[in-house]
Amino acid sequence: MKRKMKKHLSLFLALLLGLTGLLGGCARETTETSAPPETSLPPTTAGTTAPPETTVPPTEPPVPQPKLGESLVPTEKLEGNPLYVKQVEYLPEDFIMGVDASSVIAEEESGVKYYNFAGEEQDVFATLAESGVNYVRVRVWNNPYDAQGNGYGGGNNDIEKAILIGQRCAAVGIKLLVDFHYSDFWADPGKQMVPLEWKDLDIDAKADALYRFTWDCLNRLNAAGAVVGMVQVGNETNGALCGETTWANITQLMNAGSRAVREVCPDAMVAVHFANPERAGAYDSYALELDRYHVDYDVFASSYYPYWHGTLENLSVVLSSVADTYHKKVMVAETSYAYTPEDTDFNGNTIGEDSAVTKNYPYTVQGQANSLRDVIDAVAHMRNGIGVAYWEGTWITVGGASRAENEKKWEQFGSGWASSYSTGYDPDDAGKYYGGCAVDNQALFDATGHPLPSLQVFNLVRYGNEAEIVPQELEDARFTVNAGEEISLPETVNAWMSDNSRQEVAVEWYNITDEDLAQMSQRSGTFEICGAAGELPVSCFVTVKPANLLQNDSFEDGDAGWVLTNLKATKELYVEDKAGDSLTGNKHVHFWSQAANSVEFTVEQTVEGLAGSYSFSIAIMGGDCGETDIYAYVKVDGETVATAPMTVSGYGSWDTGLIEGFQVQEGQTVIVGIYVRCAGEGAGAWGKIDDAMLFPAG
Ligand code: CA
Repeated sequence: MKRKMKKHLSLFLALLLGLTGLLGGCARETTETSAPPETSLPPTTAGTTAPPETTVPPTEPPVPQPKLGESLVPTEKLEGNPLYVKQVEYLPEDFIMGVDASSVIAEEESGVKYYNFAGEEQDVFATLAESGVNYVRVRVWNNPYDAQGNGYGGGNNDIEKAILIGQRCAAVGIKLLVDFHYSDFWADPGKQMVPLEWKDLDIDAKADALYRFTWDCLNRLNAAGAVVGMVQVGNETNGALCGETTWANITQLMNAGSRAVREVCPDAMVAVHFANPERAGAYDSYALELDRYHVDYDVFASSYYPYWHGTLENLSVVLSSVADTYHKKVMVAETSYAYTPEDTDFNGNTIGEDSAVTKNYPYTVQGQANSLRDVIDAVAHMRNGIGVAYWEGTWITVGGASRAENEKKWEQFGSGWASSYSTGYDPDDAGKYYGGCAVDNQALFDATGHPLPSLQVFNLVRYGNEAEIVPQELEDARFTVNAGEEISLPETVNAWMSDNSRQEVAVEWYNITDEDLAQMSQRSGTFEICGAAGELPVSCFVTVKPANLLQNDSFEDGDAGWVLTNLKATKELYVEDKAGDSLTGNKHVHFWSQAANSVEFTVEQTVEGLAGSYSFSIAIMGGDCGETDIYAYVKVDGETVATAPMTVSGYGSWDTGLIEGFQVQEGQTVIVGIYVRCAGEGAGAWGKIDDAMLFPAG
């Protein structure tokens, strides 16, 4: 996931009924319906491509892994939610309903408070659990601090943060998905930087260090009482990991991490994680490499941001293919959707109203809920689909009234995406563009820390929530009329409904009379009329095209109405029938001449009966013309009153000459036209003229 506004966009549990059994249960998935055959796991030491076994495990024995004592499956539907949520059918009871909440500690240190649905301040993980969340994903960076101890930001997520989060999650029955980036800061398809401490290690030593780091982190999580349900060995590792870019090395590192997970958290699943499912063949090729190098993993996880990552149908195809071919579980480890286009922390967001991205849902709380519901639905119906984790559902504004106020907190507590202190480690990106949160409008909590109704989708997808289906966003109406034509406003507009369907709904236009519309139709331009359907605002944009007072304005009737005058020796000058060379329609005026200085001509039309202010335009394209003198002109009673210079610059490059607002008195004769003279470049000057317009000026 990309965390900031930047030039490239390549850049995502049932209230525990008692805590007495916290250490007495089992963290293993409770149903086996989607599990791969056990025989599909390659032996960890198979073949020559397996990692070397020369590493000595840390001397202390692993701390036994804690287990949850209570079922995490919600037993009751949450009541009172206003959103429409379509039930996801055949949802497995143990389906992973995850939220990445990595930034919570830095947020709280910055003064952020989180509330429950009753409006009371409450541990945010309890609110997640009450809403149907059963997994929390947390990223772990090796050492996101500079030599003076200043955090790089992005939550300053080292293992200490993960332990704090893991303990609080365990207390409310939530398991951890530990997301090792194996970097000191953000790792994604754009960068997979090696931790400073490992920078000079060769691949075998790096694999050993990675194994020991993973072993140590997981042991500390176990010792602290966190319940590790899944471990990601790398984050969005599209062909790179920890500074390595060959599959032999990447997979050696993955296997080193995996081995530590098997030893320390034998009940946990091992996940690999990739992004960009929309890239044809990418996931098949990654999975093939993992198989070729015998990577020991259980879950092939994907990021899925609907803005950039293709359709859910495609996601299903590519993940199901991996699940089928290699007998792996699959999941979406990161997804999110904007609940508002607005920014709340004075740091621009990756998604806003005008973002040039796929927008399959409105940027509303209902739209966010529908997007999340549909991702859950898609994964639940994939082969071996085991879950979905929402990315950074708790990352909201730190609440200051200005950027400067927030900046202090981002710097001090690491609650922005990056701090200035990251410059030593990542000078070209984080160290340059550091700042706040670029996804605060995609969180599952509002800017004041109150949970959005969309958070309860994790519970409600199991049951469905039949709220009334209402319009949530209206589509502006747009149409064009010719000047003088009657304008009649539409009685309905298209609405984006809360079930994501489209419907026509009745609309009321404000403060507009028939007389206003009649006047509008006499003027040219685009007019906005405001209205509403229910409480939702909507606009109607009416474009009035000026009446064209010329005869045969696009030369579709040959030269009828026009006079073509060859003033020198233009070899070819006529109306040509060739749609591909016309600006509109099939025909245009064509000219060509081989000899130098032979092209000079006019194309003009005489118009009578005008009075008032008018504008004229005409278009040309051409090439090989050398030095030129080309202009549109207007003559009134034989005298040139205005010209507009024009240029030719190659095929398909049309230039329009426009003369605006010339005056004509009653009884005067008007001639409009284009004058063309070219020296030529020896290759034969050529050109095309089309689409003349004469119309009353504004
Ligand atoms: Ca922001």
